[in-house]
Amino acid sequence: MALSSRSSARKSTSKDSVNNEGIIEEQIVKPSGEVTIRRYSKGKFLGKGGFARVYEFTSLETRKVYAGKVVVKASLTKSRAKQKLMSEIKIHRSLRHANIVGFEHFFEDNENVYILLELCPNQTMSELLRRRKRLTELEVQCYSIQIISALKYLHQKKVIHRDLKIGNLFISEKMELKLGDFGLASKLEYDGQMRKTICGTPNYIAPEILDGKEGHSYEVDIWSFGVILFTLLIGKPPFETNDVKKTYNLIKMNAYSFPDTVRISEQARSLITRILRTEPSRRPSLDEILEHDFFHMGHSIPQFLPISTLAVPPSDK
Ligand code: ADP
Repeated sequence: MALSSRSSARKSTSKDSVNNEGIIEEQIVKPSGEVTIRRYSKGKFLGKGGFARVYEFTSLETRKVYAGKVVVKASLTKSRAKQKLMSEIKIHRSLRHANIVGFEHFFEDNENVYILLELCPNQTMSELLRRRKRLTELEVQCYSIQIISALKYLHQKKVIHRDLKIGNLFISEKMELKLGDFGLASKLEYDGQMRKTICGTPNYIAPEILDGKEGHSYEVDIWSFGVILFTLLIGKPPFETNDVKKTYNLIKMNAYSFPDTVRISEQARSLITRILRTEPSRRPSLDEILEHDFFHMGHSIPQFLPISTLAVPPSDK
């Protein structure tokens, strides 16, 4: 597979996927035929996803640290998997926004494809929620504004993310929220175009995707945003069960409820209820969400939260 014609990588010594020094070399062949080499040291393991293993990559020239996504080419035997990776790269590299994980660069060698991304050392909202159980309304307001900002940018560019979930919401060193993982994203050619492929993550998937008849569009991201709101405030997703089929049935029946055990404001409850509507056209737009009372409760919403909130709730002062 040739994903890129200009650059390729080779391991300096051994044939193993990690050489003895853990150095990855990228060979860049200029149009003149001149070859230059960029070197990266592969460090700490950050996590793994469907196809990729992600490590800290440090450029030996600039000392800049990235999140390096390593995809073993042998795992891309099915043409769908290859297609998916190429689409992820094509879409992600075309995006540049403060609330989207920065795409730096990609290259390949005989064994792997390497994608260098902006490093988000504070992990994702999934780990945050595991530590904190649930977030305060102020925190959810602050993060939501950043998610909506990323979605407005994406939808303006005719991109639907289609896999919005707390595990794809990264937190940067400066506590900015960054939307990542464009593996299921889709770029429309025109606004009214509908997509039919079934994709998404069970708890967050919109009912019209499960239905599959009419096709789906930008509103699937709005639905998943509603699921995220519920999850962050309540501490667990609204349609969670121990069985995917049961979850899909609950989503199709719009069967969820607010537990008595967690106190949330009327405004939060109202916004979630408005978003989680089965009929996509009845869901609010991103601008309507920002105009909702939940974001106008008489206190100011900070642009970023203090780093201490990764472990403990913000203090009331
Ligand atoms: P996949 O596309 O294969 O599902 P992901 O993009 O979800 O892979 O990445 C897998 C894991 O790697 C994430 O859950 C996270 O722990 C880590 N990771 C991915 N991107 C970054 C990043 N930019 N900064 C820090 N860690 C990351």
